[in-house]
Amino acid sequence: AAAFVGRALRKTYVTGETQVHALRGVDLEIYAGEVLVLLGPSGSGKSTLLNIIGGLDRPTAGELWYGETELTALDDAALTRFRRANIGFVFQFYNLIPSLTAEENVRLVTDISDDPMHPADALDLVGLAERRTHFPAQLSGGEQQRVAVARAIAKRPGVLLCDEPTGALDSQTGIRVLETLAQANRELGTTLILITHNAGIAAMADRVFNFLDGQIASIAVNEKRISAS
Ligand code: ADP
Ligand code: ADP
Repeated sequence: AAAFVGRALRKTYVTGETQVHALRGVDLEIYAGEVLVLLGPSGSGKSTLLNIIGGLDRPTAGELWYGETELTALDDAALTRFRRANIGFVFQFYNLIPSLTAEENVRLVTDISDDPMHPADALDLVGLAERRTHFPAQLSGGEQQRVAVARAIAKRPGVLLCDEPTGALDSQTGIRVLETLAQANRELGTTLILITHNAGIAAMADRVFNFLDGQIASIAVNEKRISAS
């Protein structure tokens, strides 16, 4: 089943006299439950697409559908409701609130969600049950990122969007964070969309969209993973 379908998506940023064509006519299908990696040089449009899929930004032209819902036809309030109900975000820098414990950081999201996990269960799922009452400064970078993953999955989003989730971590720690994301994909059926420069992440993907100059230049399919599922 398709989670997202995009048709002729364009995004042009206008700053003063200059126009930047960040997306130049992108057609795409993203399948429910897949692990999809967006790969490509800096400036090729990956973050722009991720922000549009997550309802943080809008395309200049084109259509984007999430199941039966045309996201590009929603007003701002409806787009915010879509985002809160369906999308979890994990960014390179963990964006935890320093004055709140790990559990309180997760609770920020579960308190405003319809059918959330218990914050302690979300922390248990990322292997941090013992760190519930720790503050961010008392946690390693990898642990802080796993709290950010717990916060993102605690509302049971259908889709998890990750922009360089291991970019600030050493490779061993990054692998632990990746395993956590893969586990959410397996156990919760979460569609996982990741921007990365890390070859290890690309290897765990079902598919890779190779971006070049605002377009998807090619799509690589990982036959091993597809046939195993
Ligand atoms: P990537 O994630 O692949 O590095 P981006 O989607 O961030 O690429 O950027 C694509 C292009 O759009 C780049 O040329 C970038 O400088 C430009 N761009 C991104 N965001 C903005 C913005 N808010 N205003 C103006 N230009 C932007
Ligand atoms: P809400 O869904 O509560 O309205 P926002 O619209 O502020 O939240 O953003 C959605 C999520 O994306 C939040 O977790 C916010 O912190 C995060 N976010 C948005 N833009 C960025 C960014 N540029 N860098 C890091 N986090 C961001």
